[in-house]
Amino acid sequence: MSDAIRIDAIELRIVALPLIEPFVAAHGTTTVRTAAILRLLGPDGEGWGDCAALPEATYTEESVDGAFAVLRDELGPRLLAADAITAAGVRALFGSVRGQPMARASIELALLDAECTRDGRSLATRFSEAPRPMVPAGVAIGLLDSPDRTAAAALARVAEGYGRIKVKIAPGRDVEVVRAVRAAVGPDIEVMVDANGSYTLDDAARLAELDEFGLTSIEQPLAADSLADHAALALRITTPICLDESLTSVARTLEAVELGACSVVCVKAPRFGSWLDAAEVLDHCARIGVDAWIGGMLDTGLGRLANLALAAHPAATLTGDLSATARFFTEDICAEVVIDGGPGAGVIAVPTAAGFAAALDPAGLDRHTITITTLRRGA
Ligand SMILES: [Mg+2]
Repeated sequence: MSDAIRIDAIELRIVALPLIEPFVAAHGTTTVRTAAILRLLGPDGEGWGDCAALPEATYTEESVDGAFAVLRDELGPRLLAADAITAAGVRALFGSVRGQPMARASIELALLDAECTRDGRSLATRFSEAPRPMVPAGVAIGLLDSPDRTAAAALARVAEGYGRIKVKIAPGRDVEVVRAVRAAVGPDIEVMVDANGSYTLDDAARLAELDEFGLTSIEQPLAADSLADHAALALRITTPICLDESLTSVARTLEAVELGACSVVCVKAPRFGSWLDAAEVLDHCARIGVDAWIGGMLDTGLGRLANLALAAHPAATLTGDLSATARFFTEDICAEVVIDGGPGAGVIAVPTAAGFAAALDPAGLDRHTITITTLRRGA
């Protein structure tokens, strides 16, 4: 099953997908979701992957243009120089390249897709032995211009089926926003907040004011590189701390939990640089009894399908950023992901197809492509 795959060409492109409305977080605003997409081609078949890097290097160090250049100039040539490769071998193949986790993960994802297509199995079965057929739907609401507008958006999302609402916060746009959202959706909807590292430990008293709202967690309150400060904050608030940007590897995730810097883990495969490492993190979370959920990146259809496959892992105990395509995009490069079920109880089916190709919309992909290049073996 793990026979290596020979890659003879890599088609790299950037697509541009307009968002239905700008998405604002503490780190910046996204209006058009550009993304790098890759397709691996060879005698053993093809594989597709998307790169989660955002248009600008504001969430982490990677950006779409930067990741595209790294894929074209660093990772792509190494892949084409290899005789043949398995998805599990990607981490070792790129061992001499520093950083670039999202670009690395996109190649691993495309190889996983090629293997699943060849082997006639779903991606979810690569990530866990007994994947769930459905996962609950969750959504993130960006920073809006008032608490009332945020509360109205939260209510609208619950009506659409979302049972977990994540609200972006930033200094000066926090307690009143959360108060309004909690009052609007009532006590039974899961509410969490994401600060994208915009506070410091000096804000601990302010963050403790969020404790009264029964939040599932507060995500990344402090800077990504401050595990010790997060551990100190955890002693001063009762809301569980979840880390996102800080967790860049399996080892760092276990270290963060061990230090008391977080009690909830946001699993984003592209941030770890590996979808297989993300599944391993989930295995560890189950073993040590830590709650985990799958984070999103305003993903294209490919990333959305991959996240659903990962979210089917039984160790993803909390609802993730698993949203319908139509929540963010008017058009995508894949068939739409949709929600089933009533208000606050929506679920999304985990894809069972062997490979992404059947879900891809080639015409949509071409229509939204703004850059394309092909790398070839021996060229
Ligand atoms: Mg986050």
